[in-house]
Amino acid sequence: MEDKIDAYTNILELIGNTPLIKLNRIAENLSGNFYAKVEAFNPGHSSKDRIAAYIIEEAERKGILTEGSTIIETTSGNTGFSIAMVSIIKGYDCILAVSSKSSQDKIDMLRSMGAKVYICPAHVSADDPRSYYQVAKRLHEETKGSIYINQYFNDLNIEAHYKTTGPEIWKQTRGKITHLIACSGTGGTISGTSRYLKEQNPDIQVIGVDAYGSVLKKYHETQELDTNEIYPYRIEGLGKNLIPTATDFNCIDEFIKVTDEESAHTAREIARSEGMFVGYTSGAVMQAVKQLDEEGTFNEDSNVVVIFPDHGSRYMSKVYSDQWMNDQGFFDSKSEEAVQRVEFIK
Ligand code: PMP
Repeated sequence: MEDKIDAYTNILELIGNTPLIKLNRIAENLSGNFYAKVEAFNPGHSSKDRIAAYIIEEAERKGILTEGSTIIETTSGNTGFSIAMVSIIKGYDCILAVSSKSSQDKIDMLRSMGAKVYICPAHVSADDPRSYYQVAKRLHEETKGSIYINQYFNDLNIEAHYKTTGPEIWKQTRGKITHLIACSGTGGTISGTSRYLKEQNPDIQVIGVDAYGSVLKKYHETQELDTNEIYPYRIEGLGKNLIPTATDFNCIDEFIKVTDEESAHTAREIARSEGMFVGYTSGAVMQAVKQLDEEGTFNEDSNVVVIFPDHGSRYMSKVYSDQWMNDQGFFDSKSEEAVQRVEFIK
């Protein structure tokens, strides 16, 4: 027996190579075979580990970062968490400029991971010096040897998925994938994965999932940013009110929109039917699959891969809270879900 201890060098070695898992009960009445790429298996519990590690390592290769350098980004979401995690291991300072709308939970989580958090007023325009964009830009300019991840406008976001998520799915499906369905936020995941897969087989259909209240679908169809499309919605991480350059619209065949309510119910259904505790946008992508199935997009030979971007634990006070669901009015149309699953023994 070899005497070397079988251990990973550090947590970063576990980024990527996430499992592809067959969807069973939730896909029972759909035509085709459905597989989920479950990104919650990354050590930071989301697909954003991939871009954080890739963008930081590219900057290291280019000699921009040295020990003690600073990494800056504007997000309280998954990307912030992943950057904080990579920064800890590699010995960088992590600064996150976030909106004052961010929940205390999220801010506490980022601070627990060693990040310095700047809380910026939510209701100022993007060019106001107090906005989180401007604060991040200023800190980047003032801090020598720093990098600004800028995930919505960074081509390396696409490249990270082109180099990892795409090849993994191609290999895991043994080239038999026919459809890729993924949420589009920055667009990095869907663009990079699609670019790789379409290079292997241009017939693969790639469908982006967008939110009502976001401009992406209309922009894809008309090449125009229609501000009339913009209104507030609840799903975080999906859709946008601007056009990110990290989205390669040529790699996406079509977009489909989903509602907050149906996506929330579908996320809860994934947990109950597949035992996978995944995030709100995983519900959105599965909701899109149901709608596409109704439109006749798939047939019995289809091998459909969906990307589940993150873990359900980040949504305990949202989709996995009955109180929150009730407050949104989401139990009205599916009242059977409001049935108590807790019994108090007195
Ligand atoms: N789901 C969640 C929960 C996210 O945080 C994001 C990233 N904004 C996405 C989906 C979309 O991924 P991408 O930014 O690569 O389009």
